[in-house]
Amino acid sequence: MTERHLNYIGGEWQPSRSGATFEDRSPADERDVIGLFPDSDAADVAAAVSSVASAWPVWAAQSPEVRADVLFKAADLMSQRADTIAAELTREEGKTLNEARNEARRIAANFRLYAGEALRLNGETYPSESGQMVLSLRQPVGVVAVITPWNFPLSMAARKLGPALAAGNGVVFKPSEITPLMGQRLVEVLLDAGLPPKLVALVQGKGARVGQAITAQAGVDALTFTGSYAVGKQIAASLSTDTRVQLEMGGKNATVILADASIDKAVATIERGAFGLTGQACTGTSRVLVARSLHDQLVARLEASASAIKVGPGTSDGVQMGPLATRAQYDKVLSYVAIAREEGGRVVGGEALRDSGDEALAHGYFVRPAVVSGLPENSRLWREEIFGPVVAIRPIDSLDEAIALADDTEYGLAVSLVTNDLPSVLRFARETQHGIVKVNSPTTGVSLNAPFGGLKHSSNQAAKEQGGANVMDFYSRIKSIYLGA
Ligand code: NAD
Repeated sequence: MTERHLNYIGGEWQPSRSGATFEDRSPADERDVIGLFPDSDAADVAAAVSSVASAWPVWAAQSPEVRADVLFKAADLMSQRADTIAAELTREEGKTLNEARNEARRIAANFRLYAGEALRLNGETYPSESGQMVLSLRQPVGVVAVITPWNFPLSMAARKLGPALAAGNGVVFKPSEITPLMGQRLVEVLLDAGLPPKLVALVQGKGARVGQAITAQAGVDALTFTGSYAVGKQIAASLSTDTRVQLEMGGKNATVILADASIDKAVATIERGAFGLTGQACTGTSRVLVARSLHDQLVARLEASASAIKVGPGTSDGVQMGPLATRAQYDKVLSYVAIAREEGGRVVGGEALRDSGDEALAHGYFVRPAVVSGLPENSRLWREEIFGPVVAIRPIDSLDEAIALADDTEYGLAVSLVTNDLPSVLRFARETQHGIVKVNSPTTGVSLNAPFGGLKHSSNQAAKEQGGANVMDFYSRIKSIYLGA
């Protein structure tokens, strides 16, 4: 029988108020039903916000050690459960077991980082005239709504829930409807670690309904969102101006290969950035700009290495690339492969594998990674976020052209550069309009203690997230206090 999952609101596991549910299925085999989850609406959101609003002041008044302790315990529990949760992540989202383990195991480190932030959430003192002492005090914001995507369902959520709770806030959490089980697992870990019951609410459901209800609900003091630009823009337009909002959105990331680069390193860097996680990373490599002298050799090498990638269910031995996460993702990726052909590009790979005759691939959203070259300059593949294992390659003749083309996109998330030429690296890093610049490594892969965020349409730049000195800024308010004698 299909397992029925619940929301967590007001300290109790409960169905949606309307009783409606939606199905969660595996992208590796659409016949595999993972469970039924509550299809929540505005009434569930209102109840969630009201119960979290009643709970956070008590949590905020606790000593920082108490808040840190819960997050340290959550880290321990996450370590213990990581491999079990990773297997569920592979079933639910499709990434390979290796990729899922990397994500799940890292959550413990995320929680430890934010436990530390709870302990060092300090203000400052300022020199002042007239014998006064001026100091700044950090206080929680209140009710923080967290809306997350499916592609890193654990880490995107942990990097928001962790600092929000560490700073003394309460959280209303809406995971993606594509990965509701991962949202539930994270909340279970936090509750089992001793989080006060009403401090967090889990409201499952569709973006267009429950997500929108969150943006319209009074009493949400801050909203942190990671997802597409289209939805982020909609959220920003519908929120009250009193609500603090953080939006981390899409990318159209490029890797630049300069003439001195080793071809082996270039191929390895691109392959990992473009095809790892089935190309479904916000920092995934979607464009390659390569010195003309290396272009033909690089295209040939990438075509060969992409063709050798083993595609299949993430649980199978030796599989290097799992399925796309949804039918919509599958259709979208295949449509861009068709566009590339219509535009006159040379496409190697990009085949749908459902009809390949391999029974293991017959019911999932499997495609072969695609390498595209020879596209016209106005190709849609240069501009639009595909979010799949499709990489387009184009020759460049100078560093100036590399910078101009890398930045010729509405997005500005991650860019990488393969070269040992230090002056070029320095100039590129200073001038490019991207929030993350990587040298001799793929556009994907970030340090959990470093600031994360994009420029332009990739972020509203309310604050960097993930790590760094300012990671708690979004989740706390600063008050200046003047102490007179
Ligand atoms: P999405 O925008 O479709 O959905 C993200 C979340 O928003 C989901 O929980 C969804 O239910 C919810 N949502 C949808 N419509 C809503 C609405 N009208 N109001 C409120 N919430 C709504 O994105 P996705 O398909 O889940 O994820 C892929 C996108 O996320 C890509 O564009 C990718 O680049 C981006 N992403 C960005 C980062 C980053 O850190 N910059 C990280 C991961 C993914």
